[in-house]
Amino acid sequence: MSGIKFDLEIKFGTQYGKEEEEAVLRVLRNNAPTSGDECIRFEKMFAEYTGAKYARVVSNGSTALFLSMIGIGIKPGDRVLTSPITWIATAAAPVTLGAEVDFVDIDPVTYNLDPNQLEDKLTPNTKAVIPVHLYGQPCDMDEIMGLSQKHNFSVVEDAAHAIGAEYKGKKVGTIGATGCFSFHEQKNISTLGEGGIVTTNDPEIFEKISLYRSHCTRVHGNSTKYCKLDEEKFPIGKKFWWQDFDDCGYNFRMTDIQAAVGCEQIKKVDMLNQHRIDNAAYLTEALQDVPGLTLPTVRPYNKHVFHLYPVRIDPKEFGMNKEDFIYDMLHKFGIKVGFHYIPLHYSTAFKNRGMKKGQFPHAEKLAEELVTLPINPRQTEEALEYLVKSIRSIRS
Ligand SMILES: *Cc1c(COP(=O)(O)O)cnc(C)c1O
Repeated sequence: MSGIKFDLEIKFGTQYGKEEEEAVLRVLRNNAPTSGDECIRFEKMFAEYTGAKYARVVSNGSTALFLSMIGIGIKPGDRVLTSPITWIATAAAPVTLGAEVDFVDIDPVTYNLDPNQLEDKLTPNTKAVIPVHLYGQPCDMDEIMGLSQKHNFSVVEDAAHAIGAEYKGKKVGTIGATGCFSFHEQKNISTLGEGGIVTTNDPEIFEKISLYRSHCTRVHGNSTKYCKLDEEKFPIGKKFWWQDFDDCGYNFRMTDIQAAVGCEQIKKVDMLNQHRIDNAAYLTEALQDVPGLTLPTVRPYNKHVFHLYPVRIDPKEFGMNKEDFIYDMLHKFGIKVGFHYIPLHYSTAFKNRGMKKGQFPHAEKLAEELVTLPINPRQTEEALEYLVKSIRSIRS
């Protein structure tokens, strides 16, 4: 079945070439260190690409979010708001620090957190909001940043889907206090399957994130202070360094091989995103007259980078519900259609934290109807045609 080949083709978004291969070997031959020159080089390139003042590489997107929560000072008992339609990592970052997480329902057109419903959810305890630039479309950041100034909370952007996406000409990840990116194998660019980076313009947040990323280690060179503290081991006058730990932190570092691959991937990101944007335009053009399908709406001031291509299926109009569509696409045509995501308040993790069905009606309606069509930079015209033909013929 031709679908088999197609299924394999759509599995991951990652695309590596000769440049990545050479980068891996070069660092390997240089003993493949962790957190070395390649990490610094990747951070510089990433900061330049996004326009952020600082960037720090980390082990993955989840740790980028976790360190951001530490960076802005989230403590047990603080309240943090995000969207119920996201990967659990977004909500887990504050929860694992002892914060209380609540959701704000989505905008039914963009599927992003609805800023019009945000103000009602704020309490004096609300310390942060995490907007997620879902599927690659930026959130309404002016409204969210306006409320953050009025009500004094921090904004941490979850930009895991949205590297290179722009809001009113500004790259995402540079608008809030920090931006969190993932280089997981399924994201728009990858650093060998896992990886992440935090961007910020705030030097204090940057220092805190850098410290907690690596055990809060501070290296003191030739410090007389520590010399006196530990005179026996380190006699005054000799050249030495002394390591101190400001607090108990973590090891969320990235390796140099990963960062060297990141340096090559970031050079290609605009090209790879453009393929996604072109493929999305093809699908939108080819599917717009199919009754019962709602195709993505891109806000005119947004650059959407189509990490995923979301489609809503109205079962009455389309003649088939979402579950049957997913099943038939796979079994009739060999095409793997996704559903991103199950609303987080349906999960055991959040049911056990007191959440119930009925709390976020727009998210719940979306979950009944939304599928994500395969999209990636490697899709050929033939694969796209096959995808469209399959959708058009599925009801017969
Ligand atoms: C992938 C993802 C993350 C987490 O990134 P990892 O690198 O997998 O840890 C966070 N938020 C969203 C929206 C994601 O899709």
